Amino acid sequence: MKKVIPYSKQWIDQEDIQAVVSVLKSDWITQGPKIQEFEEAFRKIVGARFAVAVSSGTAALHVATLALGIGPGDEVIVPPITFLATANAVLYAGAKPVFADIDPETLNISPREIEKKITPKTRAIYPVHFTGLSVDLEVIAKIAKKHNLIILEDAAHALGAKYHGETIGSLRHSKAAIFSFHPVKHITTAEGGMVVTNDERVYEKLLLFRNHGVTKDPKFLIKKDEGPWYYEMQKLGFHYRMTDLAAALGISQLAKLEHFVSRRREIAARYLKELVGFKNMRLPIEPSGYENSYHLFVLRINFDQLGKSRKEVVEALRKEGIGTQVHYIPVNSHPFYQKLGYKAGDCPAAQDYYRSCLSIPIYPDMSNDDVARVVQALKQTIS
Ligand SMILES: *Cc1c(COP(=O)(O)O)cnc(C)c1O
Repeated sequence: MKKVIPYSKQWIDQEDIQAVVSVLKSDWITQGPKIQEFEEAFRKIVGARFAVAVSSGTAALHVATLALGIGPGDEVIVPPITFLATANAVLYAGAKPVFADIDPETLNISPREIEKKITPKTRAIYPVHFTGLSVDLEVIAKIAKKHNLIILEDAAHALGAKYHGETIGSLRHSKAAIFSFHPVKHITTAEGGMVVTNDERVYEKLLLFRNHGVTKDPKFLIKKDEGPWYYEMQKLGFHYRMTDLAAALGISQLAKLEHFVSRRREIAARYLKELVGFKNMRLPIEPSGYENSYHLFVLRINFDQLGKSRKEVVEALRKEGIGTQVHYIPVNSHPFYQKLGYKAGDCPAAQDYYRSCLSIPIYPDMSNDDVARVVQALKQTIS
């Protein structure tokens, strides 16, 4: 049996292991000093003023939504081609996600479709930098300004990505951004997430919602400070804290981010060179001024013209030891969303895209031989 090449995989080295082990041997395995150290390193790398580490990317979306003051009666515009959490977080807060279709070229939420979905109830836009290709932040920011909307970037795919020289997370055009540290993402803490913002009031609320809505900070106490034990619960918050074990892993991983992203870009460049000229296939685009951090490498295949179903192609590739995945089933076509009354047909470009997409392996630990094996298997299967 050939070595299996999965569609994605973490990179853990001896330094990472050492970092976690030393926390295990220390006094603080959670609620210790590694959290702030990770937050500080992270905010510096992306160029934001404040960072708050949480237990997952989903938790990051949830606390960010609450900290931005979004709730019942509000609408938030999201893309249908994303991980479920982008839309679910809006529902957690009691608000309503509204899907705006994608641009079939960039695969990102279409600014024109965003404008069509704005109503007097719209409060925010959650653009997703799909695969690691930034949305056109300037255009979306113009729309947001015109209609007085908040932008929260779902940057779970886009750590290390750039938009006209700006690092994603530097927040020139948005109020906040979230990241995920699930093992398939650019850096991992096993499970984990981060919210960044430049707004101190949002930052303070993020801290509250991460930790049961509780504060000990004398400057925020509502009642009288009764002594060193005293704390107050002021909002209904959650337990979304990251552990020090996870934060130590995050710090160690962050030191390798540049390499991780440049290796992903190298692999993408190989694919883009080797996979040109396939009849029934389209490759991802990278418009000038954009630097995709290639969380995913998505092929678009015309399976009808090819005369094979996606299932047949996935199975043939699996026989060759090549893992693939589909990113994503449009969120509005899931049974839960349909029961809420969402119609898949409302976003036809997302449906078209879904029928054609297939993610092939990309992760920093992939060797050039692995890349060649994927190319060879694709040549056999779909050319
Ligand atoms: C991974 C991901 C999330 C959620 O991250 P978790 O850490 O798995 O909770 C949110 N949005 C997008 C676009 C993602 O890819």
